[in-house]
Amino acid sequence: MTPAKTKSPQPPRPTRGQPRKPHRPPAKIRKALRAAAAEKQELTEQIVAGGAAAAALAAAEALGVSQAELTPTELQSWMQDMKARLETIQQHPEQNLGEIEEQIARWSQEPLRLLAQRAAQLKANATPCCCPDCQRPLTQQKYLARTITSRFGLLVIYRGYGWCARCQTWHFPADYALGLGRKAPASPYVQEMCALLTSKMPSEQACQVAARLGLDLSRCTLHREAHRQGLRALELRAQSLEQLDTWEALQQLAQHQNEGPPRAPFTLVIEIDAWNIRERDHWGQTQQLRQQGEKISRWHWVYMGTVFRLDCRGQTAGARPVITERGFVATRHGLEALLPQLYREALARGLGQAERVLVIADGAVWIWNLAQDRFPHAHQRLDLWHADEHLWSVAHDLYGRDSQEARAWVTPLLQQVREDHTLQVIQTLTDLKPRLEQAQQEKLQTEIDYLAHNAHRMKYQQIIAAKKACAQGKATPEQIQLANEPLGSGAVESTCRQYQCRFKRTGQFWSLAGDEALMGLETLWRNGRWHELFPHSKSAATLN
Ligand SMILES: [Zn+2]
Repeated sequence: MTPAKTKSPQPPRPTRGQPRKPHRPPAKIRKALRAAAAEKQELTEQIVAGGAAAAALAAAEALGVSQAELTPTELQSWMQDMKARLETIQQHPEQNLGEIEEQIARWSQEPLRLLAQRAAQLKANATPCCCPDCQRPLTQQKYLARTITSRFGLLVIYRGYGWCARCQTWHFPADYALGLGRKAPASPYVQEMCALLTSKMPSEQACQVAARLGLDLSRCTLHREAHRQGLRALELRAQSLEQLDTWEALQQLAQHQNEGPPRAPFTLVIEIDAWNIRERDHWGQTQQLRQQGEKISRWHWVYMGTVFRLDCRGQTAGARPVITERGFVATRHGLEALLPQLYREALARGLGQAERVLVIADGAVWIWNLAQDRFPHAHQRLDLWHADEHLWSVAHDLYGRDSQEARAWVTPLLQQVREDHTLQVIQTLTDLKPRLEQAQQEKLQTEIDYLAHNAHRMKYQQIIAAKKACAQGKATPEQIQLANEPLGSGAVESTCRQYQCRFKRTGQFWSLAGDEALMGLETLWRNGRWHELFPHSKSAATLN
């Protein structure tokens, strides 16, 4: 018999929102569950204890490392394995030297990783546990493992750390000794590769190239590490500019050029130009700001300069000009930032010793103001091809683009420019003006002004004559020197183009912090000062 539904003492139904009382399982099941929980607890304790024991063992083993070497057993097994792999290649006629290289590189990775780990551990063990700032011994010393991405794979290194009561901070002295950043996950070599690859190509490409070179780096690591190194490059740049602040440092910088045997008098060439870069300003607020009547331009100027001694300029067998040694400057931080950088580079390249200084650029007014301000005694030259372009633009305007008439009209004027008869050219243009319509007149006047402002910078005849004499084999020693002088600012323009190949790709948007840091890296590389950021790269160059 089932009790009547109405009479049975039903517990009150929980109302919505109130927690339902937990169902109490029968005693038998409760007992079984308790036993299982106890077992689990025991297991967890075992795992934790096991983990702690393994960690303690690993730490003890790491701290006991007294030699950076592989054991004979390890070496033996590596050699056997390698022998077998190379034998297999011999059995495959289609596998070539490429396969041999791949196999050796791939299967030598682990012994090299072990060796690197032990050598790094040895260095960590030998580092005194003292504060790197105040040199006092650290208290509350303990050990902690750190995993580092290295050239050979992941390394686990145990380092001692402790508290500096004076500086009120924890320190890991071995990290300093090993050249590891506070939070950076990469070894110095990997830091360098991130910086090098990312400054040369976009990070998604860099990621693939790194993988092919045997470095397993995520795009995020590459990007973040390159940015961190870029900031270090800017720090170095700021430090090098401090040399301009004290007389002694300034002397030292200028003296650098006096080292070695005395040199013949030389000309120092400074070329200046600019290009623009697109940045992510006001991202997501464009419409709103435009509606408020603000003009939004995401394009900003990058100012560049290059400095070299004329005797470092030569020609390839194909008559292409090459410059063996030169300095570069690049900044997105405006002209105020460009000025000291360019001046420092010029000093380092021999501004103080140069018999003559030559500034070459297009007609931009800011450039000549800058030249006047920082290099007041320099000889100024307008880029010949820019002057040509201005005359061609008048010709196209008058007679139509690429027309025979335009060519016929402009040719004698181009010749006059090459003969230093700029005033005659200006006269021709001025005589032409009354015959034109208002709009054309205004345009022409702009070109006349351009030529008039730059006339004193348009002296090309002597150099062209010297080049001709050289070609005919009749040049005087003076002419040989003169013929080497550039007529235009091609050297800086080609540098600008090279930077643009990296910084001005389709769909690329930068942040000011991001582009300046990466440009800092690229410039440091080009100036031959890479080793200041990555000292190991210098030793790599001298290893034999
Ligand atoms: Zn301290």
